[in-house]
Amino acid sequence: MPDEFPPGTVWLVGAGPGDPDLLTRKAERLIRRASVVFHDALAGPGVLALVSPGARPVSVGKRSGRHSKDQRAIDALIVEAALHGDRVVRLKGGDPAIFGRANEELAACRAAGIPVRVCPGVTAASAAAASLGLSLTLRGLARRLTFVTAHARGGEELDLDWAALADPQATLAIYMGKAAAPEVSARLIAAGLPAETPVVLVENASLPEERHFAARLDLLPLAARTALGEGPAVILIGQAVAERAFPLRPSRQSADLAQGPARET
Ligand code: SAH
Repeated sequence: MPDEFPPGTVWLVGAGPGDPDLLTRKAERLIRRASVVFHDALAGPGVLALVSPGARPVSVGKRSGRHSKDQRAIDALIVEAALHGDRVVRLKGGDPAIFGRANEELAACRAAGIPVRVCPGVTAASAAAASLGLSLTLRGLARRLTFVTAHARGGEELDLDWAALADPQATLAIYMGKAAAPEVSARLIAAGLPAETPVVLVENASLPEERHFAARLDLLPLAARTALGEGPAVILIGQAVAERAFPLRPSRQSADLAQGPARET
């Protein structure tokens, strides 16, 4: 069998949502064999612990608003390491093919004649749904699942097709949506999605610090502002989310605004 990871090649590896148990077996094998691992801020410590002691972990972390290296610099580092003869793993949170800028890195490698492949990972929405014990699709009720990012480029307005997104038979999984929560809520309601549509915010899905927050679409801004900490959070919207069953895990915090605002007494 040909070696899947010869020197001078690159793998974009899905690190999953953070829990190392959610890595694929292939991802684990590749991480252990890498001589250099470029990772971002979303790769959890449990995943990084698999990097071999002789290998070089390099943080190229990017979190919203705190870009420590721009994408072109990351592309260049990957290419340089591969040309140098390293076995390069580019570890990316969740699935590399979902809001992961995988295309830039694939293109940079191909342009330099470097063999590059992708190992998929568990995306944040899947991990969040699993933690909540719910299905993202429901027969007859939630027939469409939309992955959407609500991250606007610095200061720009969100340019999304709100009419298409406001589909009562869809489940929306919104990535990078914390800052835009007020706009998401207002625009979806204006486009016809009922204000009481169920919403769940899941922060740090799969990690020990995981938190859930259930709300309704009209209360999403409040929930995003008050309930979430500094961790990455995915917002799930739609009827499928009403079926959630919070598992009773005392170490994890959950809150519920789904019944509407507390009545003033
Ligand atoms: N490729 C990644 C997404 C990268 S975009 C994936 O497939 O999951 C970064 C966004 O992903 C974050 O802003 C957040 O919306 C989401 N995200 C990543 N990890 C998460 C986690 N553990 N819990 C909740 N959301 C997460």
